[in-house]
Amino acid sequence: MTSALAMMPTWYLVGLVTVLGLLLGSFLNVCIVRWPAEESVVSPRSRCPKCGTLIAWYDNIPLVSWLWLRAKCRHCALPIPLRYPLVELAVGVTWGWAFWQHGASVEALRAALLFTILIGIAMTDAREYIIPDEFSVGGAVIGVLLALVGGALPWPEALIGAAVGYALLWLIAVIGTRLFGEDAMGGGDIKMMAMIGAFLGWPGVLLTLFLGALLGTLIFLPLKLAGRNILVPFGIFLAIGAAATYLGGDALIDWYRVTMLGG
Ligand SMILES: [Zn+2]
Repeated sequence: MTSALAMMPTWYLVGLVTVLGLLLGSFLNVCIVRWPAEESVVSPRSRCPKCGTLIAWYDNIPLVSWLWLRAKCRHCALPIPLRYPLVELAVGVTWGWAFWQHGASVEALRAALLFTILIGIAMTDAREYIIPDEFSVGGAVIGVLLALVGGALPWPEALIGAAVGYALLWLIAVIGTRLFGEDAMGGGDIKMMAMIGAFLGWPGVLLTLFLGALLGTLIFLPLKLAGRNILVPFGIFLAIGAAATYLGGDALIDWYRVTMLGG
């Protein structure tokens, strides 16, 4: 980071990156819709899906426009889903929080980007059971690059983490397919765990997988037992597991060592 950023008062820096986060959240909304459909996120410009009117810049201001337009298209009154302002808000808060927590540093950028990618993955997996390569493979590359320029995770650990995340999930997928005769895990989940390994290292991969599987089982087992055969968007639970691991992983691993292994 430049020294000008480092000298900024904290509240000013946090305000600035929160606004940046809101704008990135707005862009993330476009990625969430277009990447699963393999469309460009640059062109064409966004239009209302019903009336086809180009969305003007003043109708595209994060949070503000959605409130001002009362959640409807200005021209045809097509409702604008709540997920648009929620994603913007989530990414804005994430960026503000990361820089408030870590100051103007590579680690702040690492935290902010990891959470932005996790939000994107949770949304596309929930909507269409797809985890786009832009988030997973692109995210793995970003994770390794940030480790190279001085994040909290040393770069060899980022590389090993990515390899372990990929190999472990690939193995689980192969075994799962043998046991159940159906694909237990998609290729998207495998590549996603490579990304998580690049950000959180191999212990982070294990903890993420454990938390994700636990949460997914708690929520989906009752539905399965009730005879509802629904596809589990496992990426959402892995995303929540990875977020929890980033926030409290070290404390959890220490607690496990002390209480289960006796120090
Ligand atoms: Zn419209």
